[in-house]
Amino acid sequence: MNAMLAITFLFAFGLAIGSFLNVVIFRYTPEKRLLDKKALGGRSRCPYCGHVLGVGELVPIVSFLIQKGRCRICGHRLSLQYPLVELAGAAIFAFLPLFLNSAYGMSNAVFFTASAPLWYYGLVAAWVLAFLAWVTVIAIDLRHYVIPNELNAFLLFLGTVITALLAIHVQSIFPFRTSFIRNYVLLFSFSNGVLLNHILGMLFGGVFFALLVALSRGRGMGVGDVKLMLASGLILGWPDIALSTAISFVLGGLFGGLLILIKQKTMKDMIPFAPFLVLGFFLTVFFGFAIVKGYFGLFGL
Ligand SMILES: [Zn+2]
Repeated sequence: MNAMLAITFLFAFGLAIGSFLNVVIFRYTPEKRLLDKKALGGRSRCPYCGHVLGVGELVPIVSFLIQKGRCRICGHRLSLQYPLVELAGAAIFAFLPLFLNSAYGMSNAVFFTASAPLWYYGLVAAWVLAFLAWVTVIAIDLRHYVIPNELNAFLLFLGTVITALLAIHVQSIFPFRTSFIRNYVLLFSFSNGVLLNHILGMLFGGVFFALLVALSRGRGMGVGDVKLMLASGLILGWPDIALSTAISFVLGGLFGGLLILIKQKTMKDMIPFAPFLVLGFFLTVFFGFAIVKGYFGLFGL
């Protein structure tokens, strides 16, 4: 398939998936399972007036823009989560494969003509699903201050798939670097083994955050964050998970400090931390190399 056509198709498909994620996120409550059949069934309604949405009100992005972000019947302002998650889904489907192709040294032409090896499509699919799960984690943690166990279990499963595929096939794409900080990995890695690095990433994420939760006695971070870091550590591997942790602490610290400064929150208030952890994952994947390079550049290295 023509690459432009394929990307357009992926973008549209991603919008639809984002729209589905919105349904999952809005109908989730901590007492229910994430994909509760009863909760997910039935027509979508305006959360404020209960008006059943028609076909014209269900088109991703377009409906939101036409209705200027308000319910057509009661005029209540609708959550920005609708367009944001839809756009995130579209961006993940359309652009993550392109980015991964470049990171793993796979040509876009080979990828979009369906002539890449089958396992490689599996690898890209697992990454796409991980990004979708991470977006869902952000939205649910912001609303409910919890991370559903189902999402963490799913991420752990994806981590197993990604680690296995990289460990088995990585020799055929590039020699030993599966890290998004590229050659800087040599400074931080204990081994060139993909399997070992990803298991180490999982241990770092799990143990480091378990210690944090134990030391802070559960204020600030919870067991859900520990599980998220354990699963995501397996996905990202060492040392990427350490970089993402550092980024999330800087972002979380800045944001928390800002909120206290403008007196929106006090030190005792709870700020959901998973959004910062996930931002750390995203920034590490897309900009890990640039960030580490810039950091060393500060010292003229
Ligand atoms: Zn309404």
